[in-house]
Amino acid sequence: MANVPKRIFLTADQMPKQWYNVRADMKIKPAKLIHPGTHEELKVEDLSPIFCEELCKQELDDDTAYFDIPEEVQEFYKIFRPSPLIRAYELEKYLGTPAKIYYKFEGNNTSGSHKLNSAAAQVYYAKKQGLKGLTTETGAGQWGTALAMACSHFDLPLKVYMVKCSYEQKPFRKSIIETFGAEIIPSPSTTTNVGRAILEKHPGTTGSLGCAISEAVEVATSTEGYRYVLGSVLNQVLLHQSIIGEETKLQMEMVDEYPDIVIGCAGGGSNLGGFMSAFMRDKLQGKASPKFIAVEPKSCPSMTRGSYVYDFCDTGHVTPLAKMYTVGSEYIPSPSHAGGLRYHGMSPIVSQLYHDGYIDEARAVEQTKVFEAANIFAKTETILPAPESSHAIRVAIDEALKCKETGEAKTIVFNLTGTGYFDMTAYASYKDGTMSDYEPSDEDIANGLAQLPKVNK
Ligand SMILES: *Cc1c(COP(=O)(O)O)cnc(C)c1O
Repeated sequence: MANVPKRIFLTADQMPKQWYNVRADMKIKPAKLIHPGTHEELKVEDLSPIFCEELCKQELDDDTAYFDIPEEVQEFYKIFRPSPLIRAYELEKYLGTPAKIYYKFEGNNTSGSHKLNSAAAQVYYAKKQGLKGLTTETGAGQWGTALAMACSHFDLPLKVYMVKCSYEQKPFRKSIIETFGAEIIPSPSTTTNVGRAILEKHPGTTGSLGCAISEAVEVATSTEGYRYVLGSVLNQVLLHQSIIGEETKLQMEMVDEYPDIVIGCAGGGSNLGGFMSAFMRDKLQGKASPKFIAVEPKSCPSMTRGSYVYDFCDTGHVTPLAKMYTVGSEYIPSPSHAGGLRYHGMSPIVSQLYHDGYIDEARAVEQTKVFEAANIFAKTETILPAPESSHAIRVAIDEALKCKETGEAKTIVFNLTGTGYFDMTAYASYKDGTMSDYEPSDEDIANGLAQLPKVNK
């Protein structure tokens, strides 16, 4: 196509009005969440003390293909959506590839990532239920920021437990979260029983995501009218993120394109799941067969080296068990710079689609190669990508270079999940040559998997 514009926009009126639930088209459904003690499948009543009512229903619904996006959520989305689909002309030229590269840009909001798509929905339903407040945890800070923005919009109090070492390393995340009116507490803290117990046992600890989750859940379940919210992994989160893929599909149709290769980075699987689902629908319905590639860090290789089994969603072991590709909830990944991808497991939907071969490939990439790609992308396309997003850029570049060898003009689309303005320490360490690559040994992986809960399912 000669006349594809650089940026392909939808108008506010063209923004999709429904989320798509890919489970409805899956012949083999993802395994249900089970109770960590009884191993019984969880029902709405079991989940509703932790999560808000409407979200529990979405979580367990494998059959409804489309959910209407509430008017109020659509109005909020219109502040930062529809997001542009961009043709990477400058990157293509730099690579000298015949491939056509497109990317969907989800970083154009203050949280700097796609996470606001689900935060908006989750806060809306909580407010509608008449809840008094929410709690959550945040590691790198993107989710905490997105949720603070949504809570500010819908006027609901929020407590964010932020892993202490990140809290100290990224003081500006705290300032942003407070700007939007939320309370932020470094974890472990003295505000919860679990926090006090951990501090007593390990004075001076800098915390972990699992500990922050345990604190947030304790406050949610012990404070009247409060619930806990999670920014990835869950089916409901992938549902909300489906807006990314629905928009992308419309935008590609506008320029008469259809992808040969669909690429997304995978932490807990929410952006990948939401981005690919519109195209996965075609594959599940036998209408098209694009190649799907999930990209993860070599330091936290749940899909490429993990097992497909039931595991805890958190290191604190307070959450239900989910069947997923996992390297074990006790696996502690090395401190890589892609904080959003340092998760031991993978969304049950993404896991099942990968297990059944609908996601064609999972690829693990090294940190320095990722930052090389990030630097190329920043210089050519002028957007400073998040380290997480740069995993997808790395593979898009590698696939485009393969096309250069074979002379094939494939159409590649990837999801650019966010911007990297808070990750300048990582960019600096790449530039000054101190960045290293870490790959766990077989023993490290085996140790993580040795801690799995025993489940006969
Ligand atoms: C959180 C995050 C991710 C990874 O989370 P998923 O749930 O796997 O999508 C990727 N990119 C950015 C910018 C993030 O903030």
